[in-house]
Amino acid sequence: MEDKKAVYAGSFDPITKGHIDIMKRSAQIFEKVIVGVLDNKNKKNWFSADERLEMIKILLKDLKNVEVQTFDGLLVTFMEKNNAKILIRGLRAVSDYEYELQMALTNSSLSGNKIETIFLTASRENLYLSSSIVKEIAINEGDIKEFVYENHINIIKERARLIKGGNFNEKNSNC
Ligand code: ADP
Repeated sequence: MEDKKAVYAGSFDPITKGHIDIMKRSAQIFEKVIVGVLDNKNKKNWFSADERLEMIKILLKDLKNVEVQTFDGLLVTFMEKNNAKILIRGLRAVSDYEYELQMALTNSSLSGNKIETIFLTASRENLYLSSSIVKEIAINEGDIKEFVYENHINIIKERARLIKGGNFNEKNSNC
């Protein structure tokens, strides 16, 4: 049944322990979870969509019912292509609420009320964790190991170093 399939979409720039927590919990609820990595050319990301996809894949190799894809354009189109009607989003503090509500209502209306958004609350330890905070800490040479998986610490630190030194532009990142 289609309803056993869900999409979890975001920028994941970079993927954090908070995102992975939502993916693992979703994988226990749904038969199939498709992680959609947004390739938004208008947004300045630290990592290209392909890099972000690879970073996620490494962490999900034991979760057999989770698949990762990149997409651009509208999320509703991506969901239609994958024949999915459930969208998962993570909710942290109150500050997420207004934006998430706006997105949920917009996606519902763009899909002719076909898409339902389901919110999973962030786990206590990830409540204030975001990709932006990780980037902020990394650029200031702080310790990010509490927030991201070990496999990614060096690549994030290295990217922070390039960005800080002004030696990074989109072309460096396999875009
Ligand atoms: P976007 O760029 O679309 O905001 P993100 O990649 O930052 O996407 O996040 C994707 C989804 O994961 C969003 O629903 C966001 O609220 C959720 N999320 C981000 N960080 C956490 C976290 N620490 N715990 C739970 N959910 C989170």
